[in-house]
Amino acid sequence: MSNVVLKKKLDEINQMKVYYNAYLLEKNPPGSIFAAKTPNCSITAYQSGKVLFQGGGCQTEAGKWGSSEPTSTSKTQKNTGASHLPENIGSLSVIGSDEVGTGDYFGPITVVAAYVKKEQIPLLKELGVRDSKDLNDEKIIQIAKQIKDIVPYSLLTLHNEKYNTLQQSGMSQGKMKALLHNKAIGHLLKKISPDQPEAILIDEFAKEDIYFRHLSKEPVIHRKNVYFSTKAEGIHLAVAAASILARYAFVQHFEKLSKAAGFHLTKGAGAKVDEAAARLISEKGKEALPAFVKLHFANTQKAIKLFEKKYK
Ligand code: MN
Repeated sequence: MSNVVLKKKLDEINQMKVYYNAYLLEKNPPGSIFAAKTPNCSITAYQSGKVLFQGGGCQTEAGKWGSSEPTSTSKTQKNTGASHLPENIGSLSVIGSDEVGTGDYFGPITVVAAYVKKEQIPLLKELGVRDSKDLNDEKIIQIAKQIKDIVPYSLLTLHNEKYNTLQQSGMSQGKMKALLHNKAIGHLLKKISPDQPEAILIDEFAKEDIYFRHLSKEPVIHRKNVYFSTKAEGIHLAVAAASILARYAFVQHFEKLSKAAGFHLTKGAGAKVDEAAARLISEKGKEALPAFVKLHFANTQKAIKLFEKKYK
């Protein structure tokens, strides 16, 4: 049996965990963060940062996350995503694009493309726009309300019903995201025309070639001056603004869903989420789930089990 070992940082391992959500195993081996088994590959991520891919499909699977270079080169590897960015990109007029909700069991995926002109950068800084991971929802809502009228943006929301239909038809989350980003960028380019951004920066969720492969059947593909980088929120405030606006939209939809459920739903995909979903099943029936959740997440089976144990 072949295997590949990658060395990854914790936030990347968390991204992987979300990606393999539908394949997570219930039991984690000692010292591991998660273990998952796809039809072709077993994946085990350890607290040390080592991620082990085993089985026939391990090369392909590991390939999605980078090459297995020795850990000593991981510093240079970390920057490869940003290596071809224009050097002064942080001070250009840029469309930034980011998404929210991909790892949340309850709620939609929201994608926002936002246009920040270079002369707006100081004002946005003043208003507190920065990496949304450093901000709580309360602060995000406050900033979003202030910037939504000064930053042109386009928001797309992929609701749960539609998400589940697409997912069940075989579409990957990566492809959904690519389609949404491309569309949001298109809408925004129209909105700001005849003005044109000097660069378009997408917070990287897939390698460039995979992103464009996902778009191959789209009637319009925006490629001009499109750049990808991980942690793009820190590279240009347009991505940070997009992320804040996407989070704001997500939170608003989440509140609507909570209202429809009749109780407070839980964000993320952890054990509390399983409990909320079990309660939802008990109150609205299993058939209500598709309007609230991303059905293919492992949470669905866990919630059904919990429901049977607790409410039947
Ligand atoms: Mn992102």
